[in-house]
Amino acid sequence: MEKMGGNGLSLARRLYTSRAIGLVLGLLCVSVTMYPLNPAPWVWALMLFNGLLWPHLAYQWARRSTTPYHAEHRNLLVDAFMGGFWVAAMHFNPLPSATTISMMAMNNVAIGGLRFLLVGTVAQILGIGVGGLIFLPLFIPETSQFQLYACLPLMCFYPLVLGLICFRQAHTLGRQKRELLALSRTDSLTGLLNHGAWKDQLEVEFQRCQRQHQGAVIALIDIDHFKSINDTYGHVAGDIVLRHLSKMLKQNLRATDVAGRYGGDEFCVILPDLPLNSAAAAMDALRDRFATLGYEQNPALKVSLSIGLADFDPAHTDATLWLNDADQALYEAKTTGRNRVICCGDGRPHHELLDSV
Ligand code: GH3
Ligand code: MG
Repeated sequence: MEKMGGNGLSLARRLYTSRAIGLVLGLLCVSVTMYPLNPAPWVWALMLFNGLLWPHLAYQWARRSTTPYHAEHRNLLVDAFMGGFWVAAMHFNPLPSATTISMMAMNNVAIGGLRFLLVGTVAQILGIGVGGLIFLPLFIPETSQFQLYACLPLMCFYPLVLGLICFRQAHTLGRQKRELLALSRTDSLTGLLNHGAWKDQLEVEFQRCQRQHQGAVIALIDIDHFKSINDTYGHVAGDIVLRHLSKMLKQNLRATDVAGRYGGDEFCVILPDLPLNSAAAAMDALRDRFATLGYEQNPALKVSLSIGLADFDPAHTDATLWLNDADQALYEAKTTGRNRVICCGDGRPHHELLDSV
């Protein structure tokens, strides 16, 4: 049986609805079938209890249990046992018996799969055995027209109810799956793509560039002396700086650019269909804007960025080599004084390149 909602409380809630509707419709079917057999008062009382009170009692039992999942497991076995018991009490009248057994089988297989179908069948056989001992194992081969009509609501509405519950469950699971997938690809602090998700995108972009003979640039952005920012202003201030940078990336990049947090204080961007010079100008503007950013809580705090850029090279055999180029450029930006943009291969800060044009 599928264990949902941590300890099974959501399973108990779902079963409450299906049990309450199924058993009240079942009561109609069984009571009309039993009526001509003139059952004893205790049988009527048991029938009413099973059809009207048991669903609420079962739910409260599961709700109050420390493990609602296990309580529901028990409740479903009681349902199956009672189903078998009523089949024997109806002396195997064909239509109501087949309806009761098939509706219960459908319920068991929908809730707990084949394993629970099997366990439920055993409980049903046990119920038939006990019912057979009490009511004698007689067989009434004919279903009257009145009995047939009494079975129709259960036959028509219960599959609808169960189908709707299963559909809602599948819908919720689908949504949760999508949410989990998005969460597993997102960096929780900045809301950007995380390391793995960004590298997946890099691979996709690398193959697109190869296939379509297109150009693209990747940028690795690292905050300068971030460790001393943490040491001086605290990690909370450090986190605010990281969030500011991610916000700036989101606001200043094109919709087609793909930004991620590579890890720690390092960020990464894919800039598709952009010449290296234009990408360098965009990153230099970003670096400039970030350097002048003010922080409410720490007005003295000034943060600079070092950025390494590399454009797609058709000679590269895989995306890692492309990333290495950007890493090399970032290293040069760090070793030549920080607070600058360096393009792979030229080793000169971007603004010097612009001056020389
Ligand atoms: P450099 O200029 O050479 O880049 O020096 P740096 O101090 O920025 O580089 P280093 O790699 O030594 O320091 C990065 C620091 O980032 C170390 C680590 O404690 C900090 N850090 C990593 N992740 C987080 C985070 O999520 N929040 C905060 N506040 N700090 C983080
Ligand atoms: Mg750093």
